[in-house]
Amino acid sequence: MSEETLSFQTEVAKLLRLMVNSVYSDKEVFLRELISNASDACDKARYLSITEPEILGDDPDFKVRIKVDKEARTLSLSDNGIGMDRDGLISDLGTIARSGTSAFMENLSGDQAEDMQMIGQFGVGFYSVFMIADKVEVTSRRAGDDAAWVWTSDGLGEFTINEAERDGRGTTILIHLKADEDEWLDEHKLQGVVKKYSDHIALPILLTIDAGEETAANEASAIWSRPKSEITDEQYNEFYTHLTGGHAMDDPWLNIHYKAEGKIEYTGLLFVPTRRPFDLFDPARRHAVKLYVRRVFITDEAEGLIPSYLRFLRGIVDSEDLPLNISREMLQNSPLIRHMNQAVTRRVLTELGKKAEKEPEKYAEFWENFGSVLKEGLYEDQERQADLLELVRFRSTAGEDLVSLKDYVARMKEGQEAIYYITGDDQQTLETSPHLEGFRARGVEVLLLSDPVDDFWLSAVFEYEGHALTSATRGATDLSNLGEEPAKDDADESEAAGDSELATLIALIKQTLGETVKDVRTTDRLTDSAVCLVADDGDMDMRLERMLKAHNQLNTDSVRILEINPKHDLIKNMAGAATKGGAADDLADLAFLLLDQARIIEGEALPDAAAFSRRMATVMAKAAG
Ligand code: ADP
Ligand code: MG
Repeated sequence: MSEETLSFQTEVAKLLRLMVNSVYSDKEVFLRELISNASDACDKARYLSITEPEILGDDPDFKVRIKVDKEARTLSLSDNGIGMDRDGLISDLGTIARSGTSAFMENLSGDQAEDMQMIGQFGVGFYSVFMIADKVEVTSRRAGDDAAWVWTSDGLGEFTINEAERDGRGTTILIHLKADEDEWLDEHKLQGVVKKYSDHIALPILLTIDAGEETAANEASAIWSRPKSEITDEQYNEFYTHLTGGHAMDDPWLNIHYKAEGKIEYTGLLFVPTRRPFDLFDPARRHAVKLYVRRVFITDEAEGLIPSYLRFLRGIVDSEDLPLNISREMLQNSPLIRHMNQAVTRRVLTELGKKAEKEPEKYAEFWENFGSVLKEGLYEDQERQADLLELVRFRSTAGEDLVSLKDYVARMKEGQEAIYYITGDDQQTLETSPHLEGFRARGVEVLLLSDPVDDFWLSAVFEYEGHALTSATRGATDLSNLGEEPAKDDADESEAAGDSELATLIALIKQTLGETVKDVRTTDRLTDSAVCLVADDGDMDMRLERMLKAHNQLNTDSVRILEINPKHDLIKNMAGAATKGGAADDLADLAFLLLDQARIIEGEALPDAAAFSRRMATVMAKAAG
């Protein structure tokens, strides 16, 4: 095949223009990116060689060579990793925008200086080389292939692909430096930067200047196999960035580094990110913990290794016990993987618990990011439910601070048995919900749950330390044993309508509304509002039902109970009118309006908005006339 010229994908071309014109001062990140790619490529080849040892040929030791040619003003980076074939070069280096690229482009502000600042955070992979190069040649030979190919570009819209020669597998990136980038020919500069970014990589990086001797530029030992005391925060952070392929925009919020000895032996180095990864709720997202066996990378897709409710973790688990040539099938069924899963989970939950106890404010940051993921464990992992319940935090009617169930129980009112909660779409609606009025008036705390996942775990968790978790919008509440509702300023106002008057009104409302309500009854749940809807004891929570309907997983409607506030003026007046045999049409209109009003507060759609509007207009006309 002869030379072929191709265009960069539009997004890539845009990004490249930024790189080529870069004024970014921290250009050194290009080395971090290229070394990280070389290291990934070696990991892939090492893993492939477990089943296809012949790909290693007479070159079994993985390494990266950096060579400087001062006269030609070039810098080259060679690895003996997996390599790329022709198609790989085209798609990986030109036509497919990598995840990091897209995230970077989405965050562009248009201001050059500001945008360049982001390169350091995002790390935009291979393309960052164009900050310091005016021409790049990538020669690559895929492990197992005979043919090699060279990709050439100046980063200005196009690249070419040609046949090439290369001894053995791997990739060489030949960088022709821009006119003012001579510092990348300097031995000390290169050594410093390589050390900074790559000490933790278990891959030797060797440096040669012109015809000089080859020198080791990094420690080349896996960071997790070193004692904790010898690792600086900066090194941990670097490793974390390395794990994200250079794309991390944050430092870790927590790192957990330990060696487990005993029945199963492994080392874990796990990070909880400070920021929420953008794909946390993507159904395709798996955890990002890599599996190693005795320092050899095995896979980043060991399914059973980390439970899905800890999928925010990044890091490595390095087993001493698994065989090196473990296949995917073996991994799936391995009891060792299951044991490590349990051990890692226990460890992570313990560390989170310590953090929650010692630094509640920091823990709150974690909770905002990952609480809704952790809560999935409450129904997915029955065994850890009790541990997880200690880690869960809530907003509540008691104030701004997050509360734990322990806090809640500690300050329950005398005579209070249940833990009360309400679920809804957002905090604002919850806080103003009429269902809470009676609880508020009696000083009973109610947990405000506005996470979609809340309805799911609530169907799996029934109690905490013997206290039933009870919805404030379901079933009959008996708040009377929680002390009297405090009297209002004007004693007459809180006087309820008489029992027999109420009975007449209730009969009338029931007759009017018929099948659309399950029951009509008075309540002590309300103080300021006239009405609310509640679910019957055995019925589905109203919000869960709305959610299932929205996802087409339910097409029946549960009939609700309409509760009325006997102390509200409207109810009192209606009761009076009903007893005196007031205009039947007017009272019927009011009954319908009561129900619609309750539906609106509940956030439910009105089944007949036209009828609502007509009745409303009639009532308003009377009031205005
Ligand atoms: P990322 O590393 O996040 O995927 P990069 O822009 O750094 O993004 O690299 C793009 C892709 O090019 C890599 O995913 C890989 O498939 C390929 N690649 C880059 N460098 C090498 C290399 N040295 N050896 C083999 N493949 C490479
Ligand atoms: Mg990369």
